[in-house]
Amino acid sequence: MPIVERIAGMHAELTGWRRDIHAHPELGFEETRTSDLVAAKLAAFGCEVQRGLGKTGVVGTLRAGGGAPPGARGARTLGLRADMDALPIAEGNTFAHRSTNQGKMHACGHDGHTTMLLGAACYLAETRNFDGTVHFIFQPAEEGQGGAKAMVEDGLFEKFPCEAIFGMHNRPSLALGQFAVRAGPMMAAGAFFDIRVTGKGAHGARPETGIDTALVAAHIAVALQSIVARNAPPVETAVLSVTKIYSGDAYNVIPQTAQLAGTVRTFSRDVMALIETSMKRIAKGVAEAFGATAEVDFRFMFAPTVNDAREAEFAAGICAELVGAQNVDRNPPLIMASEDFSFMLEKVPGCYVNIGNGEGEGACEVHNPAYDFNDAALPLGASFFARLVETRLAKIS
Ligand SMILES: [Zn+2]
Ligand SMILES: [Zn+2]
Repeated sequence: MPIVERIAGMHAELTGWRRDIHAHPELGFEETRTSDLVAAKLAAFGCEVQRGLGKTGVVGTLRAGGGAPPGARGARTLGLRADMDALPIAEGNTFAHRSTNQGKMHACGHDGHTTMLLGAACYLAETRNFDGTVHFIFQPAEEGQGGAKAMVEDGLFEKFPCEAIFGMHNRPSLALGQFAVRAGPMMAAGAFFDIRVTGKGAHGARPETGIDTALVAAHIAVALQSIVARNAPPVETAVLSVTKIYSGDAYNVIPQTAQLAGTVRTFSRDVMALIETSMKRIAKGVAEAFGATAEVDFRFMFAPTVNDAREAEFAAGICAELVGAQNVDRNPPLIMASEDFSFMLEKVPGCYVNIGNGEGEGACEVHNPAYDFNDAALPLGASFFARLVETRLAKIS
């Protein structure tokens, strides 16, 4: 694997960092030990360090060369981002670096992402073979709590302007030594919803005296499935899943209330807005038809992850340089899961890349108690970030 030689020489050290982080997982916005470790390493490498963005977020800044010459296009500043948080999962692995924090686990590989970006920072600080500014952005709370959004709202890009931003996530179904990247939408936008139906409780044997919310909820659940089928444009991709239906406590009571909940995924904010409007119309309309009422709480959680076409082309070129064009999938399937790096990509053009975590026997999906980041990918991911900087911010001679 033609990785950066100096980074290849750091493999054992990177593995040590990764396993240390793996053994000490912390949940979103609680990454105190992890952010201490990240900040200390960045400072030791010689980066300027700012902490506290998005509560536990860390930004390390490295400058080299003279920066942009007068009249040059672009500010020659890049942002590279990794996520630091773990999941509330009890680890099933028994290896030496297993979680020491009960009920918490790095089951999504953010320990690996953090290590790869630290590895790139270490190398770039040592070699300074570039001309410009790099911001190493370590975000908290990627797993459903909006850590990227919190950093953006804390003025991330006002304090650390970037002309482009890049992030990376491991993918277990992709072979080690391969990358996947695509221009345009890559991962879905996500929303959660709760619907509360109110009717009239009654004796189970006397339905004529009540308004049965169990029946209304069932009709709403069925009718909601018409939104993707009949309201969303057929060429768009969308999912609406009702994942919870609660009603009633007794055999002989018609329940006064019922609740439905679930998630919606789309690849555009427009389709998400259309689904929200349709859901409110259908839930309220169906409830009204039965004499009940329905309140809909629709919460937009994640923007769609959309790669800038030019930056995706650039990132794919770096991947191809490292592993050969035949090992870069330029047209991977769209991913219906969501990613909060999307909130950064809505502010600054950039690209999100997948790095292979290994496939076949022994490969385990993320968010599984048996998952582990593949340490063999560490030098490759760090090399990707390093070469991206050295290429984009090539020295001005
Ligand atoms: Zn995850
Ligand atoms: Zn993840």
